[in-house]
Amino acid sequence: MEQRHIYRKMLIPFAGTAAFIGSLYWLCMSPYSQLQGDFPYSGDSGEKLVAITFDDGPNEPYTSQIAGILADYDIKATFFQPGACVEHYPEVSQALFNAGHVIGSHAYSHQFGKYLSLQSIHREIKQADDVFARHLGILPALYRPPWLLRTPGSLAAIRSHSLQPVSGEFCHSLEVFQPDPSRIARGAVSKAKPGAFILFHDGFDAKGGNRSSTVEAVRITIERLGNAGYGFTTVDKLLGISPYRPLPS
Ligand SMILES: [Zn+2]
Repeated sequence: MEQRHIYRKMLIPFAGTAAFIGSLYWLCMSPYSQLQGDFPYSGDSGEKLVAITFDDGPNEPYTSQIAGILADYDIKATFFQPGACVEHYPEVSQALFNAGHVIGSHAYSHQFGKYLSLQSIHREIKQADDVFARHLGILPALYRPPWLLRTPGSLAAIRSHSLQPVSGEFCHSLEVFQPDPSRIARGAVSKAKPGAFILFHDGFDAKGGNRSSTVEAVRITIERLGNAGYGFTTVDKLLGISPYRPLPS
């Protein structure tokens, strides 16, 4: 009896903490929660169309390998790139843009501490804009916050730059550990429905990393979705907006 009482005393705070962390995750990082404002993880499509998206690149040689696969199948995708990665591989971003892929902003540094204050979020957005304008001569209209992190007021801060915040559905919860490509692909295929934004990572938190499983998973995913009658498009088209903002004259 005494023992059970002790367990209960230990478990109740633990359950409370877990519920609190779960709520915080739902509010601030879930791909699906709309509690802090409109944050689309899919667009309107009456047809079987999905948008394949990539975060955290360019990261070579993986980004170029993915671009090669997309070219093989004549598919356009959407790449959310941190400004710091674009500075590192400007020619890779340029090649993606020239091939007709859509470049979205993924802030500048991808360092967690930079997305906790609104002031710092504004700074990160402007820094990224400078990089896109300088190296590619464009200003993306789509913005995916690193880790999909939302804090009170952050979506409004993003919109104040005329940027459209974009969520997405993770291809596989363990993609970061690069499991077998067929496992990642199975997860990605399971997320497909008309209008879905399927999220892969061609890098890791803007720090590079081996992404060979993701590369192969992309090929398998495209094959399987194609066989299931899916076509591929870009996020801007599914949202019915322009992919780029006008450059200041
Ligand atoms: Zn990211």
